[in-house]
Amino acid sequence: MRMDETTTITALGEGKHYKFLGVLENVRQDERLALACAAKEHLPRISIIWSSPLSDCNRVQASNQYALPVLLYLMWTQHWPLSELRDVDRAARKIIVENGGKHPASLISLLYLPREKGGRGLRSVEHEYKITKIKSLLKLYQNPDPTVEAVREFEEHAMASGHQSLVKKAAKYAEELNITLQIDTLNPVCVTTDGKVVTAARAGNLLKQSQEKQFLEIAKDKKWQEKLFRIRWEDESLSIASCFAWLKGWATCPTHTIAGMYELYEQLLPTKLYTKEKTQTSTVGEVLCRLCGKVAESVAHVLAGCSSLAQTKYLYRHNAALKILFFELLREHGLMEEVPPWYSPVMPKPAYQNTTSEAFWDIPIYAEHNEVRANRIDA
Ligand SMILES: [Zn+2]
Repeated sequence: MRMDETTTITALGEGKHYKFLGVLENVRQDERLALACAAKEHLPRISIIWSSPLSDCNRVQASNQYALPVLLYLMWTQHWPLSELRDVDRAARKIIVENGGKHPASLISLLYLPREKGGRGLRSVEHEYKITKIKSLLKLYQNPDPTVEAVREFEEHAMASGHQSLVKKAAKYAEELNITLQIDTLNPVCVTTDGKVVTAARAGNLLKQSQEKQFLEIAKDKKWQEKLFRIRWEDESLSIASCFAWLKGWATCPTHTIAGMYELYEQLLPTKLYTKEKTQTSTVGEVLCRLCGKVAESVAHVLAGCSSLAQTKYLYRHNAALKILFFELLREHGLMEEVPPWYSPVMPKPAYQNTTSEAFWDIPIYAEHNEVRANRIDA
């Protein structure tokens, strides 16, 4: 780099860079290079995490707290094209799919929805970038420092002269989340579509909620995969948090179990109906169940509607789930001292008795009243 006629800094030749606050720079900031370098660090980290023996919860947490910050740190100062950020997201998802973390046809928005709403809780580079831009604009307009005032003037000038500016971009990103930014100096606020005014200090929460809403809306467009999720989301008598408590609360659950559950929820098992209607890979016209041959073979049918499985697999599944509660009841009434773990193959005996209580497992009861509909109650 030539300083003047006589002095040159030899280390800063053409194509050479130095780091300022961790960001690569030459005579000017090379933003694309910064992104490429950060992505080069981000993706191998994702790869290490998703091929490690960590549980699913921990993999997601590590991706958010160990891999993503490489990019997050730079987002405040860099202006990156969204298409390249989407490429980084896509590459990260590809690594997750290759490591069995997600079915290739599983919904992307579900990956980014929080776990308590039925998603996986991963954070996307593109969406974090947009939120960071909105937050940095709010910060810029909150700060009374005269140096920051100069930055504000610079941004406003850039906008007036038609150059790319933080003000314009942040307003656009906020609009995508149905939020209008009112950027009065020293008192910037967010206004929602129903007229609610939120101060900059509380904007973080609002942005997070709006983004969740956006992911839900995108998911709801995909009629096939979201069908079983939507039934839960829209049923007001259900508690969404309880429906998906297993996703959030089961911290040691391995990824392949969760990916398998998603395949059930999203109807992605290779049933006849799936190969005919969704992937259109089946050339055979008929879709009748291979076991009973009576009804169309869908995930819902295989899980709970097939008459061929009703007396065997369904009964076994039903008893295996119920026995956990039954053993707890036995212990409570002093009929059993220790409850076997849920995965133990031990099945309850038909009858238990002590001086105060009696308990029966799968025994027919002959009732005196006509109102009893099932004479073989569970327990
Ligand atoms: Zn069947």
